[in-house]
Amino acid sequence: MIKTYIGLGSNLGDSLQILTEAVHKLATLGPLQVSQLYQSPPMGPQDQPNYLNAAVQLQTDLAPLALLDELQRFEQESGRVRLRHWGERTLDLDLLIYGDEQIQNERLTVPHVGVLERDFVLRPLLDIDPNLVIKGQLLKSLAILDNPNLTVLDAGNWANI
Ligand code: ATP
Ligand code: MG
Ligand code: MG
Repeated sequence: MIKTYIGLGSNLGDSLQILTEAVHKLATLGPLQVSQLYQSPPMGPQDQPNYLNAAVQLQTDLAPLALLDELQRFEQESGRVRLRHWGERTLDLDLLIYGDEQIQNERLTVPHVGVLERDFVLRPLLDIDPNLVIKGQLLKSLAILDNPNLTVLDAGNWANI
């Protein structure tokens, strides 16, 4: 099985419910570990609600594009509608890391672009693996984490998994 990491975000609808359901759907794909639950200010357009964010580690046999198909299906099932770039959404599921593979094709860039620049992605990843390395960078030593722009909403088993 391949060890993958997936970033979750939501700022439309009942975001806690949506993220909880997403975690349960992801758990049908293989063994899962879940980060703490965070709140973060929006990236991109500022006239949208704050986000709830989390990350999961998923061990799966699915190939990268098959996994992306599942992530996009779960986004659709949450009622996601594309309104504007980096705009509000019920659910965003980004494939952050797929084993140690580097993937570049029409549908998929892995490691995910921007992963090293987004504290709302890095912080949850470090909950799951404090010594995680991406693109040769030890995440916990990245300067962006010195003044993180996000707050922990729930340090416990928020997704009940
Ligand atoms: P960002 O990718 O900067 O976080 P976003 O999540 O808002 O922005 P989406 O609208 O969710 O972007 O996805 C746009 C496209 O990105 C998708 O159609 C998908 O094919 C592509 N994509 C490329 N790499 C990835 C990846 N690693 N995970 C998820 N989608 C990806
Ligand atoms: Mg995204
Ligand atoms: Mg996305």
